[in-house]
Amino acid sequence: MKGKRFKTPFLKGHLLPNALFFFAGLPKGSVVSIDVTKNCNLRCKHCYFFNSKHETELSPEGWSRRIDQLKKQYPFLYSVTWVGGEPLLRPRIIEENMHKFIHNLVVTNGSIEFPMWEKMHFHVSIDGDEAAHDEIRGQKGLYAKIRKNIDNAKGLEVSGAMVITNTNKNSIGKVLEDFHGSNLAGFMFDFYTPSMGAYGKDSLCIDVYERDQIIDTIIGYKRGKYSKLIFLPEEVFELMKSANMNKVVKNCPLKRSAIALDTNGLKKPKCVMGADADCSKCGCIVPYYLFLRQDKKYIIKSVGHEIKKRLREAYV
Ligand code: SF4
Ligand code: SF4
Repeated sequence: MKGKRFKTPFLKGHLLPNALFFFAGLPKGSVVSIDVTKNCNLRCKHCYFFNSKHETELSPEGWSRRIDQLKKQYPFLYSVTWVGGEPLLRPRIIEENMHKFIHNLVVTNGSIEFPMWEKMHFHVSIDGDEAAHDEIRGQKGLYAKIRKNIDNAKGLEVSGAMVITNTNKNSIGKVLEDFHGSNLAGFMFDFYTPSMGAYGKDSLCIDVYERDQIIDTIIGYKRGKYSKLIFLPEEVFELMKSANMNKVVKNCPLKRSAIALDTNGLKKPKCVMGADADCSKCGCIVPYYLFLRQDKKYIIKSVGHEIKKRLREAYV
């Protein structure tokens, strides 16, 4: 018997959250995204953040007070996503407040060395192969720099996240090849979400039918060499297809259950992408993932799968 120790405990990490999703869905106010700073060291072409004006931001003390207030208001609040701007420009605020949540995620551009926060999950934006990424992000040498930072982040949980646009859509295979076997724990994909009225005019935005073909390509990669690297289930990608997306976005689970705070600690009207995002063409993977997590058949299947995996590891 190998007696392998799993990083995530079965009861607290799998059974209880799945039971909650099965019986109650995702409670209102259980997740929050925090624009912790108005600053960023980059100016990416597809950035939604700088579409809105952010002239001020809360002080560190102001954020601590705002988070305590939220925790009182929403007793089920367990998960936070630290965004910005570039959240690692204000590490002190994250460090002082992360213990207030069960689950913490930092979404970073990867240009700053990762702080050694063992319980943190990091998502690093990797928007295409070296040429596409450095072009979109407007900084030559950035791809190599984030690769180095990822390789140095041993012991931390770091995943890659690519926003697919018309500029980088042909480099998905190359990116997966580049990061296969790296220190990345996984890789996820979003599609660029246009602003209201910009679909068909915004050159970065991919037509939803072409999106379907790209999704099939990603599923093909997942069924092949990159099954572990592309860690999200195939069902999430299927939900993102043109024939299925409407059932998710018409009553978006993120908008329903999550709170998105701007740099002043004020609630944004829809989600982290702001009031101007076109929900009918939403390319953010999170609402599709949350929809699936609340699907009863999927919950039963995934708990069964986890039990089998653990038994296999323990006794084979
Ligand atoms: S790194 Fe993020 S916040 Fe900064 S400009 Fe790029 S997309 Fe915007
Ligand atoms: S843009 Fe997407 S994630 Fe945001 S509220 Fe609309 S459907 Fe939900």
